[in-house]
Amino acid sequence: MEKNIPELYGSLVFNDKIMREKLPKDIYKALRKTIKNNTHLELDVANSVAVAMKEWAIENGATHFTHWFQPMTGFTAEKHDSFISPIENGEIIMDFSGKELVKGEPDASSFPSGGLRATFEARGYTAWDPTSPAFIKDGTLYIPTAFCSYNGEALDKKTPLLRSMETLSKEATKILNLLGQTEVTSISTTVGAEQEYFLVDKDLYKKRTDLIFTGRTLLGAKPPKGQEMEDHYFGALKPRVSAYMHDLDEELWKLGIPAKTKHNEVAPAQHELAPIFDTANIAVDHNQLTMEIMKKVAEKHNLVCLLHEKPFDGINGSGKHNNWSMTTNTDVNLLDPGHTPAENTQFLIFLMAVIKAVDEYSDLMRLSVASAGNDHRLGANEAPPAIVSIFLGDELTAVLDSIENGTFFQEQKKIQMETGASVLPHFTKDTTDRNRTSPFAFTGNKFEFRMLGSSASVAGPNIVINTAVAEALARFYDELKDTKPEDMENEVHELVKRAIVKHKKVIFNGNGYTDEWVKEAENRGLLNLTSTPDALPCFITKKNIDLFTSHGIYTESEIYSRYEILLENYCKTLHIEAKTLKDMVTTDFLPALMKYTDSLAQSIQLKKSIGDFACNAQTKLLKTLAESYESIYTLEEKLEADTATAEGIQDTLEAAKYYQSTILSDMEELRTVADKAEEYLPASFLPYPNYKELLFSI
Ligand code: ADP
Ligand code: MG
Repeated sequence: MEKNIPELYGSLVFNDKIMREKLPKDIYKALRKTIKNNTHLELDVANSVAVAMKEWAIENGATHFTHWFQPMTGFTAEKHDSFISPIENGEIIMDFSGKELVKGEPDASSFPSGGLRATFEARGYTAWDPTSPAFIKDGTLYIPTAFCSYNGEALDKKTPLLRSMETLSKEATKILNLLGQTEVTSISTTVGAEQEYFLVDKDLYKKRTDLIFTGRTLLGAKPPKGQEMEDHYFGALKPRVSAYMHDLDEELWKLGIPAKTKHNEVAPAQHELAPIFDTANIAVDHNQLTMEIMKKVAEKHNLVCLLHEKPFDGINGSGKHNNWSMTTNTDVNLLDPGHTPAENTQFLIFLMAVIKAVDEYSDLMRLSVASAGNDHRLGANEAPPAIVSIFLGDELTAVLDSIENGTFFQEQKKIQMETGASVLPHFTKDTTDRNRTSPFAFTGNKFEFRMLGSSASVAGPNIVINTAVAEALARFYDELKDTKPEDMENEVHELVKRAIVKHKKVIFNGNGYTDEWVKEAENRGLLNLTSTPDALPCFITKKNIDLFTSHGIYTESEIYSRYEILLENYCKTLHIEAKTLKDMVTTDFLPALMKYTDSLAQSIQLKKSIGDFACNAQTKLLKTLAESYESIYTLEEKLEADTATAEGIQDTLEAAKYYQSTILSDMEELRTVADKAEEYLPASFLPYPNYKELLFSI
């Protein structure tokens, strides 16, 4: 039967339509006002909303509610309470109050706080975020919330994101008002997060300790065919994958997540899902939900969805593209150049603000995407390099050049693309051509930040972009605020000119994968922070602490706590990987190798006992594998000893550096020898599925 998608869409969301239906008019208005202007919500309004929400939730099969929040673990957290409330005679009613809607008190002591709670209250509380709609999942009403300590220190990713959106709104509005756009009273940041992922068969997955514990394969010889033919990209969907994507779309649509595009990615078994963009806060919530639903729906299809940044060696890993722009309350996209970019003063200011922001805070941009998993991608010629730069495209670069040099900008005649087939229409070439190697690319009316890892929350990078752009706009405002309206255009021209000279070093339209770029970037004075332990210390430099504290995004102690958590997380990840690799090598791989060499030895012996066989080939193989066994054993012992050393290092930054320099290379060395040996090992001897099976069996 045909499904009615418009009816299905958002059917599990307490959205505007439901609110209008269910709430008394004055309550609805009060709530809208709170959502729009971030004003305080009165308790009687909250009570009324709670009743409507509960009724709607129960009608839709819910029995429980939960405050849903995003602690610094990287996952979301929830604790379910049922609506039941006892009355007399052992009976119950279904109850939900405004107080329960607005505030929760989860036992927060087990969430990471990076030392914040050593000095502050042990408890934390969750506070309703009415700007992100409540929804129903698995019979529970989910209420999006922020998570704070009792002293108001943020313990989550949503609080600073909301703060950064507000700051950007304030600064952008100030500039727009100055330019005469007096009807603009707020701006919202818009985000569209394209999500990459892998699918593997669940029965195969269950046999791989590494996938189960670390999300990536720590061992595995490369298959004879990888992604070199690029035949998977945009290829036809296999029926099992197609069925999965179909189901996934429906589950997301029910939750009001506008999943729009789906296709195969470059690597075998890799896919992508892109939603239609939304306000940053909602986009962040939706991306978290998307990742969760992706995993859940996979289970139903006996698949496992891998969100790790680098599940397989030798083929592309997964990332996330964070499309970002700003829209006014009057519905103007501030990064839309219009028809004549050179004339568009407003666009140029905002474009320049982004360029300035990225140039001055490239270190923060880099660290906002730093994680153990993502270190395998950045700079590995499959994702952008670790050097942050901006791609503008030829036309915009020419516009900026002409401003800088005081020459007149002549708009290029739009190039007609010849498609070669006369039945196809001719179309005008998109003036911003594609550049897949750029970390931060202008794509026509938005920027696409491409360094994000696939598993991470998109909150962090957006907090940085919002805050850095707000800072740039605030500086521009200072430069322009005393300008008379009739001089404005000239002043803006001069300001843009000054800014170009200062920040053009961050603009790079070439191929980011080349060695020449690495050298050139160094000459330009751009940072190349190749690993997480290299990047994280930038969080606590004076320049960056000043940025965040002056805009009220983080307090100094919030910054230190986050820095600590990120470092710890890095160390823990590598620690678990080292332990898992040791486990797999000693209990799976070496015994398999032993079994095979034993059978080889027996075979040689047997053959020699029945006649004059030289057994040269077998002896050679036996020797090779016996040597591998010895090397692997020795390397495994070294890994174990070094892991013990790592555990003893007290200072977290020192420990992180040690994990990066020593443990990672121990693991790589061990893997190289084991993978070479695996090439000679019959698959039947391997107690877990190899790359061929994992990547090509669906
Ligand atoms: P492509 O990457 O092929 O150019 P689109 O331009 O359609 O595809 O969009 C890619 C992603 O960017 C989508 O998730 C889309 O919703 C998002 N996007 C489009 N416009 C904006 C915007 N103004 N702000 C934020 N994201 C946007
Ligand atoms: Mg993209």
